Amino acid sequence: MRITVDMNLCESHGQCVFAAPEIFSFDDEDHLVHEAAPADALLDKAEKAAAVCPVRAITVLPAAS
Ligand code: SF4
Repeated sequence: MRITVDMNLCESHGQCVFAAPEIFSFDDEDHLVHEAAPADALLDKAEKAAAVCPVRAITVLPAAS
Protein backbone atom coordinates (compact mmCIF):
# COMPACT_ATOMS: atom_id res chain seq x y z
CA MET A 1 0.00 0.00 0.00
CA ARG A 2 0.99 3.62 -0.31
CA ILE A 3 0.37 6.28 2.31
CA THR A 4 0.44 10.02 1.88
CA VAL A 5 0.00 12.68 4.53
CA ASP A 6 -0.97 16.21 3.58
CA MET A 7 1.38 18.14 5.81
CA ASN A 8 -0.53 21.34 5.03
CA LEU A 9 -3.44 19.81 6.95
CA CYS A 10 -1.58 17.88 9.65
CA GLU A 11 -1.67 19.60 13.01
CA SER A 12 0.47 17.00 14.80
CA HIS A 13 -2.39 15.73 16.90
CA GLY A 14 -0.76 12.32 17.01
CA GLN A 15 -3.85 10.15 16.82
CA CYS A 16 -2.31 8.33 13.87
CA VAL A 17 0.80 7.59 15.93
CA PHE A 18 -1.34 5.95 18.61
CA ALA A 19 -3.41 4.05 16.04
CA ALA A 20 -0.50 2.77 13.96
CA PRO A 21 2.89 3.30 15.60
CA GLU A 22 4.44 0.89 13.08
CA ILE A 23 3.74 3.47 10.38
CA PHE A 24 3.58 6.90 12.01
CA SER A 25 5.93 8.57 14.49
CA PHE A 26 7.29 11.96 15.47
CA ASP A 27 10.87 12.97 14.79
CA ASP A 28 13.10 14.77 17.26
CA GLU A 29 11.45 18.07 16.37
CA ASP A 30 7.90 16.71 16.79
CA HIS A 31 7.25 16.59 13.06
CA LEU A 32 5.18 13.70 11.86
CA VAL A 33 7.07 11.13 9.80
CA HIS A 34 5.59 8.02 8.22
CA GLU A 35 6.40 4.98 6.15
CA ALA A 36 5.47 5.76 2.55
CA ALA A 37 5.00 2.12 1.54
CA PRO A 38 4.30 -0.05 4.59
CA ALA A 39 3.61 -3.78 4.40
CA ASP A 40 0.08 -4.62 3.29
CA ALA A 41 -0.37 -6.55 6.55
CA LEU A 42 -0.65 -3.13 8.20
CA LEU A 43 -3.57 -2.03 6.00
CA ASP A 44 -6.17 -2.28 8.78
CA LYS A 45 -4.03 -0.15 11.07
CA ALA A 46 -3.33 2.38 8.33
CA GLU A 47 -7.03 2.75 7.61
CA LYS A 48 -7.75 3.11 11.31
CA ALA A 49 -5.14 5.86 11.53
CA ALA A 50 -6.68 7.65 8.55
CA ALA A 51 -10.10 7.39 10.17
CA VAL A 52 -9.04 8.90 13.49
CA CYS A 53 -7.09 11.80 11.99
CA PRO A 54 -9.20 14.84 12.95
CA VAL A 55 -8.18 16.80 9.86
CA ARG A 56 -8.36 13.87 7.39
CA ALA A 57 -4.76 14.43 6.32
CA ILE A 58 -3.99 10.75 5.68
CA THR A 59 -4.66 9.00 2.39
CA VAL A 60 -4.26 5.23 2.17
CA LEU A 61 -3.99 3.63 -1.25
CA PRO A 62 -4.27 -0.17 -1.04
CA ALA A 63 -2.02 -2.09 -3.36
CA ALA A 64 -3.66 -3.05 -6.62
CA SER A 65 -4.47 -6.76 -6.60
S1 SF4 B 1 -3.62 12.25 13.24
FE1 SF4 B 1 -3.63 13.58 11.42
S2 SF4 B 1 -3.21 15.62 12.20
FE2 SF4 B 1 -2.60 14.16 13.78
S3 SF4 B 1 -0.42 13.77 13.45
FE3 SF4 B 1 -1.56 12.21 12.33
S4 SF4 B 1 -1.81 13.04 10.25
FE4 SF4 B 1 -1.26 14.74 11.59
